Amino acid sequence: MTRRGLLQGLLAAGIWSALKGHSSAAQPVSMKDVEALQKNWKALLAEGVKVPLPNEQLKLSKEEWRKRLSPNEFNILREEGTERPGTSPLNNEKRPGIYTCQGCGLPLFTSEMKYESGTGWPSFFASIPSAFETNTDFKLILPRTEYHCARCGVPQGHFFNDGPPPTGKRWCNNGVALRFIPKSGKV
Ligand SMILES: [Zn+2]
Repeated sequence: MTRRGLLQGLLAAGIWSALKGHSSAAQPVSMKDVEALQKNWKALLAEGVKVPLPNEQLKLSKEEWRKRLSPNEFNILREEGTERPGTSPLNNEKRPGIYTCQGCGLPLFTSEMKYESGTGWPSFFASIPSAFETNTDFKLILPRTEYHCARCGVPQGHFFNDGPPPTGKRWCNNGVALRFIPKSGKV
């Protein structure tokens, strides 16, 4: 490679990494990085926004849920419907912020835990600690791990062991079960 070619290559690499750095947060490399994301999740919470704790249980009747949710939300959140892939605007949400439970506002994930899985559902490789409880369901014959909000019990999605490193985990979430609060506070 000529000296000039080398310089051009370095320049292009620099621009590429600058662009990448600008469009999304750096992917964590080690489990230590993931633990830091989990520990510091409040850094992505918009100023002045109050969120509940997992142990502040919320128990509502079916009718109370119906009043609180849209018909589509009610079907997916309370009657275990599944959202059609590719339909959630949150698939393309890339701004910094927090994903909370649509049912009760409990923080579940941050923007730094999200990744593009290509499945058509919002996907995450880690979650905010204590956000979920799990069950095993057999609806598709093979057992799957269902997870739901630890505070209000709303089903959020299914958990798989085929996520990206370093966690190798994938939370595959119904977009309609999530509400995004941008760090800027502007929805
Ligand atoms: Zn909830």
